[in-house]
Amino acid sequence: MYKKYFPYFSNSKNIYLDTASTAQKPSVVIEAINKYYTIYCSNTHRSNFGDANRATTEFEKTREIIKNCINAHSKEEIIITKGVTESLNLVASSFVKDRFDTVIISSLEHHSNIVPWHMQGRSLHKGLEVVNSDEEQTFDMEHFEKLLEKNPHSFVSITHVSNAFGKIHPIKNIIKIAQEYGAVVMIDGAQGLPHFNIDMQDTHADFYTISSHKTYGPTGVGALYVNQKHLKDLRPYQTGGATISDVSYDKTTLLESPFKFEAGTQNIAGVIGFGKALEFLQEIGYPAIIDYENEIYEYLYERLKKIEEIIFYTDSINSIGSLSFNIKDIMADDLGILLDKMHVNIRAGHHCAQPIMKKLGINGTLRVSLGIYNNKEDIDFFIKSLKRAINILKD
Ligand code: PMP
Repeated sequence: MYKKYFPYFSNSKNIYLDTASTAQKPSVVIEAINKYYTIYCSNTHRSNFGDANRATTEFEKTREIIKNCINAHSKEEIIITKGVTESLNLVASSFVKDRFDTVIISSLEHHSNIVPWHMQGRSLHKGLEVVNSDEEQTFDMEHFEKLLEKNPHSFVSITHVSNAFGKIHPIKNIIKIAQEYGAVVMIDGAQGLPHFNIDMQDTHADFYTISSHKTYGPTGVGALYVNQKHLKDLRPYQTGGATISDVSYDKTTLLESPFKFEAGTQNIAGVIGFGKALEFLQEIGYPAIIDYENEIYEYLYERLKKIEEIIFYTDSINSIGSLSFNIKDIMADDLGILLDKMHVNIRAGHHCAQPIMKKLGINGTLRVSLGIYNNKEDIDFFIKSLKRAINILKD
């Protein structure tokens, strides 16, 4: 139904099932990038001629779109970054580092929400705590409360949706409980915004990180939402052009947020493209997106369930986008290689989530991750190819 908006599918005969890695881009995004480079390419927030002003206006329009999309209070709360990785690192190094004894994460985090904490010298039970999950990867709320009781005023950094398994964390509840214990909460929204209408006035997140390329926008762009009450405590971790109001050989006076956090020339075309991606999603509407995605996800789950040798790691309840599995006695990597030959683009491996793979005693999984352009024919083709690949590898 939505495939026609994505030029990739006119040029490729591949079945694309790797949207959690990066989503395909609709033509409105590609056209906006092309228009910037061919019609008004100029730097932003610097020069004062027509094209430069237009570039600045379009760039700032994206900030406004993000602000409205997540219902932030003001544009000052929206910092443009190059992705979720940069957003998480910015908060880790400029807000958390010397302020919090304990960081609490879930067991389903992406490496980009684990490694920055290790870089601060934290390790398990030494400044870093991990919330348990059950065999279906459900977040253990009781354990979370115990950790908060023991470590009040912690920093909690939790993914909204697991990229490896598609499991959705109940972030509203997590934030509420954490804040009751005086904790500050950051949500890794890399896999959240592609699927959900997120409302900062409703969830009360302190920080929320956004990735453009997972949300049908260009790569190398993202955003960090910072609740205005924390803006004064967040230090810029890199400085340079466009972050200052005055510089002498003696001292620098920085601009206010968000500009003091956006050093150097930004990915202007990418940022403008990201605005178009969000407008595209809003035009379809999040309720329609959720309904459609749930339908396709359930269809996939039901078809996979019929394969005898399948091993699931989650149920299909409270999951979205990604579905991970293994086939008994077959390496996920081998299946991935064969599926590639059959024109199915799918990811095999640890999905940048090695700790949970280790906990499960596996090297990795085969992960199907869906986008709004996938349809039942894609799933049928995939299942047929998967069965063929299983038969080849079993022989
Ligand atoms: N967190 C999660 C849950 C992710 O899925 C990803 C990307 N795979 C990241 C963080 C990193 O995002 P980005 O590519 O925008 O840096």
